[in-house]
Amino acid sequence: MNFYPEFEVVRNDSRCIRCRVCERQCANEVHWYDEDGKIMLSDESKCVNCQRCVTLCPTRALKIVKSDCRLRENANYSDQTIKEIYRQAETGGVLLSSMGNPNPLPVYWDKILINASQVTNPPIDPLREPMETRVFLGKKPEHITRNADGSLDTKLAPQLSLSMPVMFSAMSYGSISYNAHASLARAASALGIYYNTGEGGLHEDFYKYGKNTIVQVASGRFGVHKDYLEAGAAIEIKMGQGAKPGIGGHLPGTKAVGDVSKTRMIPEGSDAISPAPHHDIYSIEDLRQLVFSLKEATEYRLPVIVKVAAVHNIAAIASGIARSGADIIAIDGFRGGTGAAPTRIRDNVGIPIELALAAVDKRLRDEGIRNNVSIVCGGSVRSAADVVKAIALGADACYIATAACLAMGCHLCRSCHTGKCNWGIATQRPDLVKRLNPDIGSQRLINLMDAWRHEIKELMGGMGINSIEALRGNRLMLRGVGLTEKELQILGIAHAGE
Ligand code: SF4
Ligand code: SF4
Repeated sequence: MNFYPEFEVVRNDSRCIRCRVCERQCANEVHWYDEDGKIMLSDESKCVNCQRCVTLCPTRALKIVKSDCRLRENANYSDQTIKEIYRQAETGGVLLSSMGNPNPLPVYWDKILINASQVTNPPIDPLREPMETRVFLGKKPEHITRNADGSLDTKLAPQLSLSMPVMFSAMSYGSISYNAHASLARAASALGIYYNTGEGGLHEDFYKYGKNTIVQVASGRFGVHKDYLEAGAAIEIKMGQGAKPGIGGHLPGTKAVGDVSKTRMIPEGSDAISPAPHHDIYSIEDLRQLVFSLKEATEYRLPVIVKVAAVHNIAAIASGIARSGADIIAIDGFRGGTGAAPTRIRDNVGIPIELALAAVDKRLRDEGIRNNVSIVCGGSVRSAADVVKAIALGADACYIATAACLAMGCHLCRSCHTGKCNWGIATQRPDLVKRLNPDIGSQRLINLMDAWRHEIKELMGGMGINSIEALRGNRLMLRGVGLTEKELQILGIAHAGE
């Protein structure tokens, strides 16, 4: 069915100098030059509003606007819903989407406000006083213990040391480009934090960033071997992902080319499909076996992270993981991004990270096992304020991925699954990959994290708190606005004014 395009290309012809930059820059082949009419034309039906042509047009002759031409929609059947039914009636296929859930469900971060000190318990000036943003992730002892000679027993389970409570979340080589991985690896190394291989293995060029790398083991086991495990600073078992809880991963064969197939250890051009379950894990005891197999394989040097999607019974699941021998739990909320997910799964499965995080922290505290594990939360952490709120709700650190992609130049056109990312991030096409310069990409990531670090210090200073450790789980520093009693109860915070 032929729909009116979602976006319109508006070209100011008096400004257009026919330089054809837009034509060369658009991987979707929207623009072309008509030799006869000596005019630029466009096929708007292919436009995904990535803004590449708008940004690079030298005369500001272009803008892309959302079309106001809609099907006859109503409050029940939106324009989008009708089009999706038409599309499925034509193809018989599952709809695919990229990035996180875009639906107008509550964003609890925006309904939580942070405290500030006033007269008593004065604020701390972060420019003049030391503020500690370092965190250590891993199992902590319950009590101080002493050796036979009376000295302190300082032996700890393996820890990840972060200069600030933010890490780059899993994005596989394959779903994102070589240059995007290079940017993340270099930035993590310069910042003293970590990036995450995702389920695509580790390209041989990036082994040198190993001490700032979290290597992931997913159900497909792509690219997993002893050297890979030993190369990282921590191992993450991926049980679930916020954007697509309950299902596996799928990298189309068109993206499994060259180094991507070599790194994943699969034949070139074959689909890389991770099954929904790990076929050796059907209980916490099974998970424990994998946790300890990985520890054994790496001589107990590395902490093991278990990553799960935020789902209805997340607190009970986390309780099991905390008893499995894992050192860190990573919880991924339903707004978490992805390179490709079935639209129905992405938009309808899972729960908000804010509620999941609060429920998990409370459950682990109630059961007296909070120190067994650190908690890392992800799934749409968009700013330093979100980080501070997450820490106060009980997280030890946050994972970011969409925000990291934005820092590298992503324009959220939500077309990663097409492999034609005009910004060189979610693509393997060599002509597109080279558009992202890793020198610039990594510097922009470093800048973003530096800015967030300053803001975190300012927000903590305002509260009269001088360390992440003192903020962790300090829900007295938070107040809700416009939330129900039940929501406040789950978040464990009071309403503003109380
Ligand atoms: S980039 Fe701008 S000036 Fe150049 S052809 Fe396209 S619209 Fe015209
Ligand atoms: S897809 Fe991107 S580059 Fe192509 S016309 Fe649309 S906004 Fe411009």
